[in-house]
Amino acid sequence: MSRTNLAYLFLCLLITLSACTSDKPSANNNFAHTPDPDKQKELYILPGLEHGLLQSPINILSFKEKTTEAHEVTLHFQDEIEAVQNLGHTVQLDFSEGSTISYDGLTYTFKQIHFHTPSEHLIDGITFPMEMHVVTNVPAEDKDDFPRYLVVGFLFKMGKANKFIDDFLNLIPKTEDTATPLESGTVKVRDVFTGTEQRDVENYYHYRGSLTTPPYTETVEWFVYKDIIEASPEQIATINVIQGDNARRIQGTFGRIID
Ligand SMILES: [Zn+2]
Repeated sequence: MSRTNLAYLFLCLLITLSACTSDKPSANNNFAHTPDPDKQKELYILPGLEHGLLQSPINILSFKEKTTEAHEVTLHFQDEIEAVQNLGHTVQLDFSEGSTISYDGLTYTFKQIHFHTPSEHLIDGITFPMEMHVVTNVPAEDKDDFPRYLVVGFLFKMGKANKFIDDFLNLIPKTEDTATPLESGTVKVRDVFTGTEQRDVENYYHYRGSLTTPPYTETVEWFVYKDIIEASPEQIATINVIQGDNARRIQGTFGRIID
């Protein structure tokens, strides 16, 4: 580029910049000089910013995964799911009492499974059409304590029909806030965790985060399964029609480690 052209470009930039500055509404300039704390709060506190630095979901960058010393995980499944609910904002499966998972010395109880369409976690920037969350917890000991959670996330892509989903898809109540009781053994979470290789923590991205719905509690051990599971486009669409788009946006990682 010649010197004259460069000078011309610089001039154009200057004109554009000054045009932008003079376009600014005067109210904004006033606001910058005399900040009203209430107004500032209203303008700058966006949903989620009042939380801490351990929010979920996140974009998991697979190349940043660190291998650390092995975590000890023990799964214990009873027979299992006793109801399917249409909660309007999500489809939920409720566990019967008795299934547990132990991780690093704490034993969590299986509570429920629910779905997000599209996925909440991203892998290397990619969103998947559906994510399933298997929620387990350890209740708070007293009012000063927090409940602790361990949530296993499974990401789905479109492909072959999925047996686990098939077993309850036609039993989801058509009306919101209603539940269909399930006979013991109809829907088995074993169908998702098939084979010992899927119980190996090496097959999961693990990080510390939060619930992705209020109250966004930051005591969640997240395990996102690395293999992407198949479900048919019809199965995913059926769940999406019931619950709509219910994924929270990704949150900052603030240096958190994926291991
Ligand atoms: Zn969820």
